[in-house]
Amino acid sequence: MNIGILAVQGAFTEHKKILEKLGVASFEIRQKSDLDRQTDGIIIPGGESTVMGKLTEELGMKEILLGYIKSGIPIFGTCAGMILLADKIEGEEKAHLASMDITVVRNAYGRQLGSFETVSEFAGRPVKMVFIRAPYVSRTGENVKILSTVDGKIAAVRQGNMLATAFHPELTDDASVHEYFIGMIRDFSNNK
Ligand code: GLN
Repeated sequence: MNIGILAVQGAFTEHKKILEKLGVASFEIRQKSDLDRQTDGIIIPGGESTVMGKLTEELGMKEILLGYIKSGIPIFGTCAGMILLADKIEGEEKAHLASMDITVVRNAYGRQLGSFETVSEFAGRPVKMVFIRAPYVSRTGENVKILSTVDGKIAAVRQGNMLATAFHPELTDDASVHEYFIGMIRDFSNNK
């Protein structure tokens, strides 16, 4: 298994480290040609969604990423990555990859303008979560499953092979969200 991590901006190294701990190979997607490599899954990290969205478009990666999503390859967005995947960003005209049937509100939790850590449920089990100027999901389409709610706000969702968390599981020593994503990749490969 090999997972491509979008590495144009943001916290991509931390994802690489957590995958290493799990014994899963990964590579950085820094330029368009990196997307020629065979990949079993893609991670879009946290960072600044406006910058990341602009760069993926300018570097000619947007269409290729959309092609991957269409083909069903599992994709996982954390924080800014969730914003990139969303169909709609509240108060903004334009979405980025516009692939998940969700609306997100950016920089949404009042008390997390700095950051905060908490333990809350993800897909039915408690996991450590770090929030940094995180978005939350204000609307979900009918095919979207809610995996976490924190402070009454939706913080993790799944739609088909797309997974998105408002928090940063890669900034904790708890690998369970990455394990969940690896499970999605295994299911996808087994059903091919
Ligand atoms: N506030 C950032 C944005 O709106 C997301 C923050 C993060 O990824 N940690 O793009």
